[in-house]
Amino acid sequence: MSPHAIIARQAGGPEVFDYVSSEVPSPGTGQLLVKVAAIGVNFIETYQRSGVYPVQYPLVPGSECAGIVEAVGDGVTDFAVGDRVATAEGSKAYASYTLLDAEKALPVPEGVSLEIAGALPLQGLTAHYLINSSYTVQPGDTVLTYAGAGGVGLLLIQLLKLRGATVITTTSTPEKAELARTAGADHVLDYDQVPARVVELTEGRGVDVVYDGIGKDTFEGSLKALKIRGTLVLFGGASGQVPLFDLQRLNAHGSLTVTRPKLGDFLLDAEERRWRSSEIFDLVAAGRLHVRIGAQFALADAGAAHTALETRATTGKTILVP
Ligand code: NDP
Repeated sequence: MSPHAIIARQAGGPEVFDYVSSEVPSPGTGQLLVKVAAIGVNFIETYQRSGVYPVQYPLVPGSECAGIVEAVGDGVTDFAVGDRVATAEGSKAYASYTLLDAEKALPVPEGVSLEIAGALPLQGLTAHYLINSSYTVQPGDTVLTYAGAGGVGLLLIQLLKLRGATVITTTSTPEKAELARTAGADHVLDYDQVPARVVELTEGRGVDVVYDGIGKDTFEGSLKALKIRGTLVLFGGASGQVPLFDLQRLNAHGSLTVTRPKLGDFLLDAEERRWRSSEIFDLVAAGRLHVRIGAQFALADAGAAHTALETRATTGKTILVP
């Protein structure tokens, strides 16, 4: 089939996506040409498509994919034609072919399929830095995280249980609650049970850390669910961005810490990238971390994939296949 890509010529709803014929690009110095096998769909692409995050249009979205190296540019020594690679830091990944900076390419280990490799890096690396670097979770910590059946959520729950934490999560349906429980969550609540039930479950103390990727709708409850000197890691805004906030309230709620991280700041160099990605991929290859691909769409249907993500209709990871 001839190469295609998804393009948005302006900000808007999923209907701004066009599926167009495209050229096979040539790799520049330090780049790989990758024939894409699977593309990870992420919330950031909905923020870019809708205009919540400022980007230049026309936009070919996509930062996460996996595929086979078809050509290498000058100066590439670590990869060769035929290698299986993945990335969380690509650009223009909603396409049949994409160019990838070799330094941001991750080798896909044996035993990990290209579908899983396209589904894992962005959310897996995120879950890794959240529990190791934004706040270092200790065995015995009690953690609240929302959307326990989501992409990041299912991975976070599993990594937190491997760490020895007690995990409280929320979901919006009984089916999603079951998925979160199967991943290992100790307590699965409805959203409106936060913070009261969380305070009860911790015998009045509050949790050590809240990982909040929902934002606008959950932020206030997150503050109230924390223990004195607890940490709120606000890592996304699936319900909308948190409005301006008076820092004095951190004092009133018990000397809290709030951080608002992004993945790129936790992949600063080759060593950090290798550390995080090898731990995550090794856990998957060893069968200790399960990646749920809840839905797969044809690349041409990228708009439908965005609608599903934005209307809470997905579980686990959503991928596109060119
Ligand atoms: P999910 O698969 O978790 O999908 C989002 C889930 O959020 C939904 O399924 C839904 O679960 C829940 N949700 C609650 N309220 C809403 C709402 N109003 N609209 C839509 N969804 C809602 O997505 P991801 O795992 O891809 O991402 C989760 C969050 O993590 C996002 O905010 C994303 O931006 C952020 N993120 C941040 C990164 C960073 O480095 N800062 C990197 C990667 C992701 P339910 O129905 O159970 O409530």
